Amino acid sequence: MEKIVKNTECIITIEDITSEGEGIGRADGFALFVKDTVMGDVVKVKVMKTKKTYGYARLMEIITPSPYRVDPVCSVARQCGGCQLQHCSYKKQLEFKENKVKNCLERIGKLEGFEMEPIIGMEEPYYYRNKAQYPVGKNKEGQVVMGFYAGRTHSIIDTPHCYIQAKENDKILPVIRSYMEKYHVEPYDEATHTGLVRHVLTRVGYTTKEIMVCLVINGTKIPFEEELVNELKKIEGMTSITININQQKTNVILGNELVTIWGTDYITDYIGDIKYQISPLSFYQVNPVQTKKLYQTALDYAGLTGEEIVWDLYCGIGTISLFLAQKAKQVYGVEIVPEAIKDAKQNAQINNIENAEFFVGAAEEILPQKYAESKGKMKADVIVVDPPRKGCDEALLETIVKMQPKKVVYVSCDPATLSRDLKYLVENGFRVEKVRACDMFSETTHVESVVLLCRADT
Ligand code: SAH
Repeated sequence: MEKIVKNTECIITIEDITSEGEGIGRADGFALFVKDTVMGDVVKVKVMKTKKTYGYARLMEIITPSPYRVDPVCSVARQCGGCQLQHCSYKKQLEFKENKVKNCLERIGKLEGFEMEPIIGMEEPYYYRNKAQYPVGKNKEGQVVMGFYAGRTHSIIDTPHCYIQAKENDKILPVIRSYMEKYHVEPYDEATHTGLVRHVLTRVGYTTKEIMVCLVINGTKIPFEEELVNELKKIEGMTSITININQQKTNVILGNELVTIWGTDYITDYIGDIKYQISPLSFYQVNPVQTKKLYQTALDYAGLTGEEIVWDLYCGIGTISLFLAQKAKQVYGVEIVPEAIKDAKQNAQINNIENAEFFVGAAEEILPQKYAESKGKMKADVIVVDPPRKGCDEALLETIVKMQPKKVVYVSCDPATLSRDLKYLVENGFRVEKVRACDMFSETTHVESVVLLCRADT
């Protein structure tokens, strides 16, 4: 066979998909990564880039579709970087995610013999997100575009309808688009750091149907504010309209300053019986239906009887903390974003929960500090961690080990860092008891998991 170089066209069979969702096939032993393909597909591809032992190719034609292939529901599924797996049946997506977690635990965590409970799938894998962040820009014709970035780029794919976002967005975006066009309000241009509107952030309360709209701007105020507010508040459920000031030359979406231009500076929603207040700067799980199942799993794993001292690290607005407080003696939450802790305290109050206390700061600083202050006397029965993708800092894991809780419940959105941290805990006196993946992000490669660790000597 000819040497595989750029522009080579060949027919290959896709054997597997990577953890990022790209299909992998081989041309004469040479591995090729092909976006938009699924295991079992026989495809014609064109090689775009080669490295020493592998390359990247573009899907040109599907010769024989895989039994797992389905038609994407979205017309921009291939261009948009948001969904990577729309062409794959939901059942296969779940299998892929479960395997992704299992493989990471075995390969990175060096774990074996743990019990893996079946993945918690979604009943309705579309329209599940309660939060959207649309970048705003201009197309070649100078028209305003709002949507999502194309994979690995910052070019915006105009997305008038997104199949994984709340349907209320279809009412919000046209209002902002016509306001910008009518009053000549310029979208932000990353390259020149000019223009005003950078992002539109929306949140919709799943139970309450309350809507939040936040315009992230490269400025301190918007022109014709009243005209925009008047149109937005016509949308049923509109509760909070805010402006977020971000004048930095940065990829970070939100700035620190928030100005409420109409309504409240938060919306409320429920998970189970607990009511939560959510502000634009705070983290809140994006899939409300699955979040309830995720927290229920964490609660089951914690096995509370009402007598326990629980620490909830990376607690956000106190979601897991308050969920657990119903069954624990005392819960302490730690979170780095001050606004989120403000929400957490407020949330404890509105739910009449008196056995939850919250601290602002980095978990890896607060916990070691408090432990040292107590001269090693501070105890915990259960420690819950729910870190961002980078996982836990070793200083935190070290303190957890010293505190010798009976149980650690690890909630994770990244199986790789989860596995790294589990390896540390297992090497330091814990054993992995149960693992369960939960699909919070259908059509994408992301997967959430909950792990129960117990002390190895118990
Ligand atoms: N448990 C919450 C939030 C989980 S997301 C929920 O389920 O809603 C992770 C949270 O960790 C975010 O709120 C983020 O702001 C916070 N965070 C990030 N780094 C942190 C750190 N070093 N210490 C404490 N919290 C941190």
